[in-house]
Amino acid sequence: MNEVSEANKISTKLHEILEMRHLNESTFVVKLEKNNLSFKAGQHINVGPANSIHTREYSIYSGEHDDYLEILVKEVTDGFISPVLKKQLPGNMLVVEEPVGYFSLPVKINPDEKLLFIASGTGISPFHSFIKSNPDLDYTLLHGIRDNTEKYEDSFYETARYIPCTSRQKNDDSYFGRVTHYLEEHPVSPNTRCFLCGNSSMIHDVYDILENQGVPSEMIHAEVYF
Ligand SMILES: Cc1cc2nc3c(=O)[nH]c(=O)nc-3n(C[C@H](O)[C@H](O)[C@H](O)COP(=O)(O)OP(=O)(O)OC[C@H]3O[C@@H](n4cnc5c(N)ncnc54)[C@H](O)[C@@H]3O)c2cc1C
Repeated sequence: MNEVSEANKISTKLHEILEMRHLNESTFVVKLEKNNLSFKAGQHINVGPANSIHTREYSIYSGEHDDYLEILVKEVTDGFISPVLKKQLPGNMLVVEEPVGYFSLPVKINPDEKLLFIASGTGISPFHSFIKSNPDLDYTLLHGIRDNTEKYEDSFYETARYIPCTSRQKNDDSYFGRVTHYLEEHPVSPNTRCFLCGNSSMIHDVYDILENQGVPSEMIHAEVYF
């Protein structure tokens, strides 16, 4: 690449796609050049095709110390941007804006607190980044999914810490039911710091359950996708 196009790439915040990992029919990981962009695990970036003024928010999936950037995207079939992202190929460029957001772990994790992550679908992305950035984290991760095809790269998580809750498929290695049912059957203690990420109806219902179980609202953090 010559100097002119290199300079252009930096000023327009274009990042080259290094890899596309298709995890099932609709969901994929886009691996991008990092270009020295730093972020705090849990933040999101606005991403869009290079030839478009439109972008959408995506939580960063990779870890703070990785030398690349990744996002985990589910195609919304009648959506505007996600189907375009799904068709991208390595070598293409994407627009990436500065990381933003406050959905982050506390600077110092209180040893008296437990950490519970609750995701629906691709809402697992910031938790993947939390864990990749802090490999010794003591956490439990509840993942609300429809079936096994949505256990995105689950081998990354320690089996004892990752609890998939499948709503449409009974398996031996999953809890059969929604995360809300799991929480009603397995109440959490009030000293649990809870991070919720995904669709608004899950977050709303889980928030109510946690508050009823005595978790103070300042211990509940939420990131709503849609
Ligand atoms: C802070 C934040 C972080 C996000 N992080 C991620 C992420 O890591 N991965 C990811 O896949 N998405 C994420 N999203 C959602 C993403 O920004 C887009 O809304 C999504 O990709 C659809 O964009 P689109 O242009 O294809 O659809 P649009 O044309 O913008 O919208 C189509 C409709 O789809 C709805 N919708 C959005 N997402 C979904 C979904 N997953 N399932 C069903 N309906 C949906 C929208 O509410 C809208 O009604 C995040 C959103 C926010 C606000």
